[in-house]
Amino acid sequence: FVKSSVIEGTQPEDDSDQEDIDAKDILKRELQDERKTLPIYKFRDELLKAVEEYQVIVIVGETGSGKTTQIPQYLHEAGYTAKGKVACTQPRRVAAMSVAARVSQEMGVKLGHEVGYSIRFEDCTSEKTIIKYMTDGMLLREFLGEPDLASYSVVMVDEAHERTLSTDILFGLVKDISRFRPDLKLLISSATLDAEKFSDYFDSAPIFKIPGRRYPVEIHYTKAPEADYIDAAIVTVLQIHVTQPPGDILVFLTGQEEIETVDEILKHRTRGLGTKISELIICPIYANLPTELQAKIFEPTPEGARKVVLATNIAETSLTIDGIKYVIDPGFCKIKSYNPRTGMESLLINPISKASANQRAGRSGRTGPGKCFRLYTSYNYMHDLEDNTVPEIQRTNLANVVLTLKSLGIHDLVNFDFMDPPPSEALLKALEQLFALSALNSRGELTKTGRRMAEFPLDPMLSKMIVASEKYKCSDEVISIASMLSIGNSIFYRPKDKQVHADNARLNFHTGNVGDHIALLNVYNSWKETDYSTQWCYENYIQVRSMKRARDIRDQLEGLMERVEIEICSNASDLDAIKKAITSGFFHHSARLQRDGTYKTVKNPQTVHIHPSSGLAEIRPRWVVYHELVLTTKEFMRQVCSVKKLINT
Ligand code: ADP
Ligand code: MG
Repeated sequence: FVKSSVIEGTQPEDDSDQEDIDAKDILKRELQDERKTLPIYKFRDELLKAVEEYQVIVIVGETGSGKTTQIPQYLHEAGYTAKGKVACTQPRRVAAMSVAARVSQEMGVKLGHEVGYSIRFEDCTSEKTIIKYMTDGMLLREFLGEPDLASYSVVMVDEAHERTLSTDILFGLVKDISRFRPDLKLLISSATLDAEKFSDYFDSAPIFKIPGRRYPVEIHYTKAPEADYIDAAIVTVLQIHVTQPPGDILVFLTGQEEIETVDEILKHRTRGLGTKISELIICPIYANLPTELQAKIFEPTPEGARKVVLATNIAETSLTIDGIKYVIDPGFCKIKSYNPRTGMESLLINPISKASANQRAGRSGRTGPGKCFRLYTSYNYMHDLEDNTVPEIQRTNLANVVLTLKSLGIHDLVNFDFMDPPPSEALLKALEQLFALSALNSRGELTKTGRRMAEFPLDPMLSKMIVASEKYKCSDEVISIASMLSIGNSIFYRPKDKQVHADNARLNFHTGNVGDHIALLNVYNSWKETDYSTQWCYENYIQVRSMKRARDIRDQLEGLMERVEIEICSNASDLDAIKKAITSGFFHHSARLQRDGTYKTVKNPQTVHIHPSSGLAEIRPRWVVYHELVLTTKEFMRQVCSVKKLINT
């Protein structure tokens, strides 16, 4: 590494604001004391005064200054919750859960009572809830039931700098309702300094800056580009561990798979280090990590040991982990990209922006001087990284959002008050797709089908598949399939030493070459037959946790079916009926076998392949519809279903 520059921090402040510790209630007392040491505490009264005075405020403060955990509590203490709930939105599920847990602890209440969270398919709130952390997507859905958000007194759109699709749409909606709800307070909070843009958008709202407490961070670059950043990250972790003074390490990786790989290799390599070297505690954190394990990253590191946190982008600004002194930044993240011309959406590993790189580096200098190891060259940083990440609205499929806006009665999408408008091509594509799904009529108005589809918090193709199951009398099977598809990739378990057994167990569900959707249905139904047995899951190399989640989602879908008045009926013997329902939603995702054994997508001809994990990978049916495309070494179709003949090709 070449030591290249030092980012100067402002002088740390002395916080010797200690109080006597009451022996009775140590934890709560300690937490209350801790609250007072956060940078935001000194601005509590000033902030509350500003909220009193102005309807909309833009708040800017360094990550870890206490915006997310403290502001809603201040508002509660100042009496805002007497007039309505305080909502605080987060772009990420894990952040909403984790922060709610922390705040309920600080307030000494049970999670889900006064302080709760709401994320898709999981509502941990009650009648009592006055502070509600939620994903931005969930608040968006709340507009459907309560268009003026009457039950809220304050809405805090947090992590605004992330510019997720839902946050961008929320901006337009909350700005709109703030005009006829003068009593509703809006806080737009961000960890970066692009506050002017937010202020301009919200009619020159005042900007409230919370001065950061940041120590200097030494930036180190690699001399030459790294061929394998995973390997480089592992080597750097071990080097820091063996040569550097105490302090925890934070490594930014792109996703669960990478994190699991690094976790495994690190465990293996540290075993050989001998007893002279102190213990290295490895803590992964990513969206699908079970809740009990998520809390582990916040546990203080025992004396003499060192913690290494393997995190996705979530640790960039959403979560603050105390004690981090070293950051390892390979310079990549997974990012959704969408081609409106072809309608293809994929999740790709991309270089991060300079803004992200600086946020990441900053994580090491929160409690003392830090070091950041960038696994790329300073030339790369200067010349190859973009300044900022493109807002999601400009690189994603908009069908879902268009459907939501239409259900809110917003028809004129072109003139919607977007902070940064999406490409008109993408809007058109979304309208076209919704029309093809019969969610909109030729005048662009919501149909009955569209209205029903909008009730489901799912991608329009999935909700169409569900709504179509009424016609084919197989709603029972189709909602099971939809629940299993919503779990993503974590149903089957494939331990390294038992891969053959695991693969055989998996293939058992594919008997008759039924395709992956029906195989998922078989898994669900077999589990149900065993009365949801955990033992059965172990025997079949299936993740119990994922299955429980699928059951949970299924229960909720069943509730929504009642709302849209679709009867639950079973037609298990008629696989064709089930496939017809699937195809009603996913006909856009159809592909035809080519002479050379590859597939060509129908809508926008492109060469694709069946993912090797599919039960149909060897069979290669002539026609298929697929659930999603993933690009790894090639474009792969994941979750594939064979179909007989396609209309309108
Ligand atoms: P900001 O939103 O400004 O980035 P936060 O309010 O998230 O700051 O964080 C303030 C403090 O609360 C940090 O010191 C952080 O470590 C701590 N904190 C946040 N969530 C948790 C948690 N789940 N467990 C323990 N500490 C937490
Ligand atoms: Mg925050």
